[in-house]
Formats: sequence, C-alpha cells, structure tokens
Amino acid sequence: MDEIRIPNDATYAPFSLTDIIATAPLASRLLLGATLPGRVLSAAALGVYAGSAVQDWIVRRDMRWIDFSKEFGCDIKTLDEMPESARRDEVERLAARLDDGFTAERIPRAELAVSVNEHLTEYMAGITGQRVYTSSEVRDFTLAKLIFPFAMGVCDVVSGDVALFRDTGIFEPHVICHEFVHRKGYWKELHAQALSYMALMSSGDPVLIQSALAERLHRQLKVIAGEDHQAYHDLVDSLSMRSELKDEMHSLRPDAGVYESSVSVVMKRLYDERLKLTGQNGLSDYDLGFTNFLWTFSKSPRARQEARHAAF
Ligand SMILES: [Zn+2]
Repeated sequence: MDEIRIPNDATYAPFSLTDIIATAPLASRLLLGATLPGRVLSAAALGVYAGSAVQDWIVRRDMRWIDFSKEFGCDIKTLDEMPESARRDEVERLAARLDDGFTAERIPRAELAVSVNEHLTEYMAGITGQRVYTSSEVRDFTLAKLIFPFAMGVCDVVSGDVALFRDTGIFEPHVICHEFVHRKGYWKELHAQALSYMALMSSGDPVLIQSALAERLHRQLKVIAGEDHQAYHDLVDSLSMRSELKDEMHSLRPDAGVYESSVSVVMKRLYDERLKLTGQNGLSDYDLGFTNFLWTFSKSPRARQEARHAAF
C-alpha cells in the first residue's frame, strides 16, 4: 500500500513552541531583567515551528484526501436534518448499548494515543488506499487552555501540536482521535468528528468503541437540550444506564467558574465566527452537524462506504 510520513517535528519539542514564541520575551524580562535572551529564544522557537510546518506541508502535497460526498453521500453543506423523534429513539438505544458493553478499563494516555493513531491510520487507508503516518505525541498543557477553557483539547493546525487539557474519562480516545484527524490534515470540525467516530467504531477495541458511542450520545443530548444545562442533566438522569456512565455524561457539563464562563462566552462566539468564515456551519458542526452526518450517511443511496458504518 502507498504510504507517506508527515514528520510533525514540532510535536516532539519538549514544550509547545507557540508558548515559547509568545512568552519567552516576557519570562526573560521577569527572570533576568532583560528581554534579549527571551527574544533570541522566541526567534529560535519560531524558526523551528515554521520549519516544521513547511516540512509537513511539503509531505502533505502527496496526500490522497477523502471525498466526503463520494464516500459518505454528504458533506458539511449537504446534511439532512435528523428528526427529533429519531434522535430520542437513538438516545435510548445508545444508552442501552453503552450499558451492555460497559468497560471500566482505562488505557494510559501515551499508550492510548499510539493505539488510536494506528486505528485512525488504518481506517483512513481503507478509504483512500494510502497510509498517512503522523506523530502520536500529546501534551498535557499549552497556554491555549487559558484561551479556550471550554475545550477538552486543541490541535494547532499549523504545527499539528495536540494538547489535552484535562482527564476526559471515557471520552479520551475520542478527544485524542478527533485531534489526530486534524493532525493528519483535515482541519474542519465535522470531518474530525465523523472520521474519529468511525475509526474508533471499526477498531474492535471495547474501550475505543465505548468512547465513540459515548461521544455520539453526548452530542445527541446536546442537540436535544440546546443551551439549557439543567435539561441536559435531567436527560442524562432519565437514561437507563449505570451510574458510572451517567457520571461521565454529567462531567461534560460542569458548572463553570467565573473566569471560564466569561471567557467562554466571548471565545465561543469568536470561534463560531471563525468556523463560519472557513466554510463550516459553526460550533454546531460538533453536535448537530455530526449527528446529521451519521443520519444522512445511513440513508444515502449513493455513498461508496457501507451504511452499516453509521449503525451501532
Ligand atoms: Zn477539532
């Protein structure tokens, strides 16, 4: 099989290069009373960062991209609306399936990242006929955490750097896989949600499958509840599902602190605008778009991929 290797050099740096670029001059003024060492370090980090991005870009020119319309019968702007009754029916079935297949097993993050990356690479290769190898490095911290307090993880689309901001419980395989789809070069959110879901579902690993199903349930509940936090929690409580799973679903909508909630309101609006400016539907692609995608794909008469990939 055809294969390419994207170097992702920036992801192997001991610290996030964007953090060094942004903070080294200030840190050096505070620590040494002089900005010059910091500026030198900042410039050096910028050089490595840019060099890594250019290298990745050169290799990516040989990538075979997934044509979503052809493979799944729909794409970001051609989704059918899933009816509310079908959503509620799916929620019941997802809860039952999650409860049946429940596993408390947790895989350490570094090991999990390698496994998820392998399954994602194989899944995508099954569609394109090309294996795209990428880094499996994941950071625990970047300054982006302060800017996107509502996010569970981020991927710097220029360098491919991925950071997870907290322990995301049973959702961790999905969060990592979603960011790894970006790292492979697909920066649209609907594509990351969809490819992550299907790669994990096709893995055969109960921990990964549980994560994909939990994310699908979480997104359905978010669509049904809208912005109403209490409605979300009430829906979770009404499910026929063991308490371990309910606790995981509840933990995704914690009561935000003052900093998180005020920053989130502003940043979410900006982020939503940015998504719309780049040919996406907005933040709704994470939940409404994602669930509509699986719905449309499952009913498409012209998708090249088998509709059973959207079933569970
Ligand atoms: Zn994303």
